[in-house]
Amino acid sequence: MSAPLKRGRCPAQEQPFVKTGHASEGIDTTQSDAYDHHKRYPMTPRERLLKHLAGEPVDRLPFMPITMMFAGDFAGIPYGAYCRDHRKLVEAQTKTAEAFEFDYVSCISDPGREAADCGAALAWFDNQPPAIIEDQARLADKPALAQLKTPDPLGGGRMTDRVQAAALFKKLCGDRYFIEGWVEGPCAEAADLRGINALMMDFFDDPGFVRDLFGFAVDLGLRFARTQIEAGVDIIGVGDAAASLVGPQIYEEFVWPAEKQLVDGIHGMGGKVRLHICGNTRQILAGMGRLGCEIVDLDYPSPVEEGRAQMGPHQVLLGNLNPVAALRNSNPKAITQAIAECHRQAGDRYIVGAGCEVPRDTPHENLRAMGDYARRAAARL
Ligand SMILES: [Zn+2]
Repeated sequence: MSAPLKRGRCPAQEQPFVKTGHASEGIDTTQSDAYDHHKRYPMTPRERLLKHLAGEPVDRLPFMPITMMFAGDFAGIPYGAYCRDHRKLVEAQTKTAEAFEFDYVSCISDPGREAADCGAALAWFDNQPPAIIEDQARLADKPALAQLKTPDPLGGGRMTDRVQAAALFKKLCGDRYFIEGWVEGPCAEAADLRGINALMMDFFDDPGFVRDLFGFAVDLGLRFARTQIEAGVDIIGVGDAAASLVGPQIYEEFVWPAEKQLVDGIHGMGGKVRLHICGNTRQILAGMGRLGCEIVDLDYPSPVEEGRAQMGPHQVLLGNLNPVAALRNSNPKAITQAIAECHRQAGDRYIVGAGCEVPRDTPHENLRAMGDYARRAAARL
């Protein structure tokens, strides 16, 4: 087992760089990798991301791959514990961010935080993410929605554990890393509560119910986002995977207005937004761009050049290596070429990352290859 975090200390802050100015004091710092690193990349990760998102010059491209089970494995923490105990999540994230030189740490773990606090049944595993049990969906009966109260994110449930992760990140390494909170998007949360198959039928059979359910999901997402922002996160990741399954008409009619309400609400709280829709979003890219998110992730079925064409020159794009074929099963040379191609298609408003979560058994040198590319690539702003 790995050692627990010491109070008040972030692993990444223990020895970030040697002190500068030693050369004039007769001490040879040219041998120090850390000194060289600091000279080449003087910005902290947080500073780098804030400037990049603001369109200001940065020392290199930011690197924001999504790690969950990979991070748990790297820190020797079983994934069930990672999802149950924010201290384990924070320990794993900070160790992984430090070792692979990420620019951020994230509260993301699994989609079941909000649903669990709404009373949904989850199946738990020692070393896998918990799964929402679809055939026991919380809203299997539609009238149950009218009785469902929005849970308090600080009420002591799974949402509270995420807020505690945000607060612990802020305390341990809030000056150094960009901190990401996470909420389910409206379509994803509706699917978590109702079941994806039932929801797909509801769009046609009972649009009024869908609007009520999306309204509930937006309200829940906004409350959860607010508590995470108040705990110190810089950005809220909005995971709305189910939105890639509904087709462009339903996306425009139902999903986009709810996502827009969520994004605008988070902006109104002073938060930034990273939109993450897994899967093929080619038919809804323009709508995703109109949401006004600071970062839009592109999964591998959605070409970066299409994202750029549909969302205009200013949208910051992130992605989109196939996490399995082009990252886990690939090699550093091919990964470097693939990321360079993503960067070429995206232009300078780009952040290095895979299309979705880095698989847990990804060879370390493959993940490092992405980071190495980010370090070599100065953004030409
Ligand atoms: Zn994804």
